[in-house]
Amino acid sequence: MRRLSSSVCSPSSHRLNPVTTMSTGSNSLVWFRKGLRVHDNPALEHASKCGSSGSIYPVFVIDPHYMEPDPSSFSPGSSRAGVNRIRFLLESLKDLDSSLKKLGSRLLVLRGEPGEVMLRCLQEWKVKRLCFEYDTDPYYQALDFRVKEYASSVGVEVFSPVSHTLFNPTDIIEKNGGKPPLSYQSFLKIAGEPSCASSELVMSYSSLPPVGDVGNLGVSEVPTLEELGYSDDEQAEWTPFRGGESEALKRLNKSISDKAWVANFEKPKGDPSAFLKPATTVLSPYLKFGCLSSRYFYQCLQRVYKDVKKHTSPPVSLLGQLLWREFFYTTAFGTRNFDRMKGNPICKQIPWKEDLDMLAAWRDGKTGYPWIDAIMVQLLKWGWMHHLARHCVACFLTRGDLFIHWEQGRDVFERLLIDSDWAINNGNWMWLSCSSFFYQYNRIYSPVSFGKKYDPDGKYIRHFLPVLKDMPKQYIYEPWTAPLSVQTKAKCIVGKDYPKPMVMHDAASKECKRKMGEAYALNKKMNGGEIGDEDLRDLRSKLEKDEESNIRNQRPKLN
Ligand code: FAD
Repeated sequence: MRRLSSSVCSPSSHRLNPVTTMSTGSNSLVWFRKGLRVHDNPALEHASKCGSSGSIYPVFVIDPHYMEPDPSSFSPGSSRAGVNRIRFLLESLKDLDSSLKKLGSRLLVLRGEPGEVMLRCLQEWKVKRLCFEYDTDPYYQALDFRVKEYASSVGVEVFSPVSHTLFNPTDIIEKNGGKPPLSYQSFLKIAGEPSCASSELVMSYSSLPPVGDVGNLGVSEVPTLEELGYSDDEQAEWTPFRGGESEALKRLNKSISDKAWVANFEKPKGDPSAFLKPATTVLSPYLKFGCLSSRYFYQCLQRVYKDVKKHTSPPVSLLGQLLWREFFYTTAFGTRNFDRMKGNPICKQIPWKEDLDMLAAWRDGKTGYPWIDAIMVQLLKWGWMHHLARHCVACFLTRGDLFIHWEQGRDVFERLLIDSDWAINNGNWMWLSCSSFFYQYNRIYSPVSFGKKYDPDGKYIRHFLPVLKDMPKQYIYEPWTAPLSVQTKAKCIVGKDYPKPMVMHDAASKECKRKMGEAYALNKKMNGGEIGDEDLRDLRSKLEKDEESNIRNQRPKLN
């Protein structure tokens, strides 16, 4: 093993030569799902240590569950992923393939239900060792259970290390007496320092064992979008963020080379409307797919902090952001039905409204509030928005204005975000809808004044909503208040070229607060006991009746 200095985190990173520590001359299969990287990849490392006299089969399976085109979806993509994310994934695979090729290996791409594909590969290639990153998402938990059962029944060794996160969620839950900590501060206390803080990470290899004969299992190169049945010209503007480990490391190095910026990083300060140069790292899609190791990111931040005199601390620091990710991973893993309201022990039961037209207007950026609509268009076109921008649209959809179920907003984000992450997305939607973690439902983001604070000229709105590009700045956040002559001159008539506001924020938010108050009272009354469908239905119809009579009472009375 040769120690190499690496660009940023030299003391804890090294290069691994394919040393035989447990060689039996047998074949290993490295199954990539997330963890699309060479650096700090313990599954690859294990296979390379063990398989120096055998072959290594690095495999990625194109899973129809995520990748099958769905022309009936509201935007290009599959039913579960927008094209931006699929493209990001393919770029990441291409980059991984090219890194593996430089080491004398390559990525083998197969298609089909991953469990079945795995079984065929294990049989056909006479695999003795199956190595893949442990995954806490429910989809992978179920899939991996099946694959592990099969592997052990046929005598295949399985190596499945935790390397997507800094901590093993199981350890934290155990340390906390079998339950996940439900506040960030208690999480920090229990978690302490991750072991990666002082461990060496394998960053590169001098070479990898060769790929064996692939037989006729249908192995291919990384497909293009077109080969998967998508078309590249379905949308006018695509995400500017390119996928892959090389891009991730470049982006990371760029962020951390500005030590003062890292030292002073403080969320939620930072401009959510900055889109040409975002106020945060935009490392989330790389962490999502594991193009970037969170442990390497952690070590790099530690080194910056050592080099500077003063720096910010969790929860607001950059390291603190990474720990928010850990917090949500742990809570999600330890909570039954984390991705829904019903049957979820940490989620308040709230009688959200069913309104598919309102939901579609929000999703399509047609609420009539330019700040909200521009954010939703950024989501559609780029698959990424600043954290506070996500706050604004999530609050607007749920407890702020429309009173629509957080699960429906979650679904839209889950499909369109390039960083879409099961634990983090569900956790944040519960947070923003005041269903869990955060309960101050009287604090609502204004869809007008919040964005104006950061971007009084409305540059962000003009970019993502070009229909408003000529609207004078005093009306850009509330175009319905512009006199008709101004609208005509700006070539944007509200109600024709751009929608009228779908609700009036002051009245809508007041109604929402009232409903939240009643829902909280019901939750309190039940004192943690189960709130049944009927209780919620009763409360919903009471709230709707009250809403109707409030509207009636607000109308001017006729004699
Ligand atoms: P930075 O501020 O540079 O932070 C660095 C890293 O820390 C991020 O890449 C991310 O991995 C992690 N991080 C930052 N903020 C959070 C947070 N609040 N919770 C957990 N981890 C965090 N993030 C996702 O990665 N995937 C999602 O699906 C997702 N859905 C969200 C849904 C809603 C409603 C909201 C309000 C937030 C959501 N977030 C999600 C969290 C957050 O908005 C993004 O992680 C962040 O904006 C990504 O940008 P960045 O990489 O520049 O972040």
